[in-house]
Amino acid sequence: MAPRPSVVQRKRRRLAAVVLAVTAAVAAVVLAVFLAGAPQGGAPLTGPTPSGTSPSATSPSAASPSATLSGEPTSPSSPSPPPSESQPPEASENPGEAPSPPPVAPGPTPPPATFPAGLVGTDVEVVPGAGPSVALTFDAGGNSAGLPAILDTLAGAGIRGTFFLTGSWATANPTGVAAIVAGGHRVGNHSQTHPSFTGLSDSAIGDQLLGAEQAIQAAGADPRPLFRFPFGARDARTVAAVNNLGYVPVR
Ligand SMILES: [Zn+2]
Repeated sequence: MAPRPSVVQRKRRRLAAVVLAVTAAVAAVVLAVFLAGAPQGGAPLTGPTPSGTSPSATSPSAASPSATLSGEPTSPSSPSPPPSESQPPEASENPGEAPSPPPVAPGPTPPPATFPAGLVGTDVEVVPGAGPSVALTFDAGGNSAGLPAILDTLAGAGIRGTFFLTGSWATANPTGVAAIVAGGHRVGNHSQTHPSFTGLSDSAIGDQLLGAEQAIQAAGADPRPLFRFPFGARDARTVAAVNNLGYVPVR
């Protein structure tokens, strides 16, 4: 487990420069598996973001215990058919969370999604009660060049992931947001402009989260209650500030 923090931080730094990449070592592990087993999706995904799936990040011992909260719908051991226009049946397996919203749902803003009180004060790294599982998560804050290949690969493998979007990205890529939602994937909040939160006041943190929330909702998705700190930069104060806005941070 010792090498994991450095791996994650290294990958996080890449994400700022790369387009849309796997952000956790566990994601890299599973992705490598599916790339090997899904020839139709392997080539495009490894094209634009070769560093995102670096073999050096694969550490089998780190895979199972470091799954993130967003992994409920994914079950790599029991692949299901690729999702069509309708949502896959796994949606009903989300414990304590609202299922992914349909792509077209313009109407009154739903009440904020909630999260288990036991997660207050934590930057979640393991899916509570999920046992040995792996979550695939992606961050989107650059351009959207890698998105189609990623979505094709996930669909081909029958896997749902969670995409943490910046508000800026959502505003610039509304069709990308729609494609993510149409694929049955979860969406999370990754701030409006991707600053390091430990340098922000609580008020500025509020502006970042709510600005992104509004931008993502305007693009047709709802990021609540999942949030990921840009660069992984957080402390007790910033975690509390995020919790107070109705979000649970996911590592
Ligand atoms: Zn990021």
